[in-house]
Amino acid sequence: MPVKEKLYEGKAKIIFDTGRSDAYLVEYKDDATAFNAQKRGTIGDKGPVNRDVSAMLFRYLEERGIPTHYVESVGEREMVVRRLRMIPVEVVVRNVAAGSLAKRLGLEEGTVLRRPVLEFYYKDDDLGDPMINEYHIQALELATLEQVREMADLAWRVNEELSALLEKAGLRLIDFKLEFGLDEAGRVVLGDEISPDTCRFWDARTGEKLDKDRFRRDLGGVEEAYQEVLRRLREVLHDVAG
Ligand code: 5GP
Repeated sequence: MPVKEKLYEGKAKIIFDTGRSDAYLVEYKDDATAFNAQKRGTIGDKGPVNRDVSAMLFRYLEERGIPTHYVESVGEREMVVRRLRMIPVEVVVRNVAAGSLAKRLGLEEGTVLRRPVLEFYYKDDDLGDPMINEYHIQALELATLEQVREMADLAWRVNEELSALLEKAGLRLIDFKLEFGLDEAGRVVLGDEISPDTCRFWDARTGEKLDKDRFRRDLGGVEEAYQEVLRRLREVLHDVAG
């Protein structure tokens, strides 16, 4: 696929125009940032690993009826995706208290929530991605109530599917962040990525963190943790192609 021009460079990915009106090319970078880009670094092979993990999970979800932007993987760290008009809202689902929830509500990290929690954040770097609710989303005209409900419904389904899959890989899905967009027909479609950058995965047996918290908290073994997630997913999905 001929790459035309760089359309947008984010903290972890670059979006290229492909010349096709229905698709973009996404390059997954090794760059890592945390705390609204106050902490910066690189994680060796993060791009290829996150591309492969995301590709496997998008395909898995798509096979289970959840619409995603994934089209195909190309090269070492690229992915062809359907063009979407992104909704500037991050949807976070949490099964276990960790990160900002543990801090905000004074819960010990690792506390299993009596029921999963779903949160919305306004995707705006200047504001530091503040938490918002469905009323804010409508007031700011970020999405309609129907689209909010669809994002929530899809996020719950993703939680069910991925929790079950990851359990087979010996991983606990603690929490994760999703982003959605609208396709040309106005349908809500899952976009962005699903990877150790955007999810918390803990080893089911040891509780070891196998995600970006290793980078955020300087725990060491970052590359190895990302590789381990990929290895286990390949094993349970019998996937060698990535
Ligand atoms: P927390 O609110 O505890 O920091 O994050 C909750 C979950 O959403 C974690 O799995 C975290 O990785 C993910 N998440 C939330 N916001 C972002 C973000 O802006 N970037 C990335 N990469 N992940 C996020």
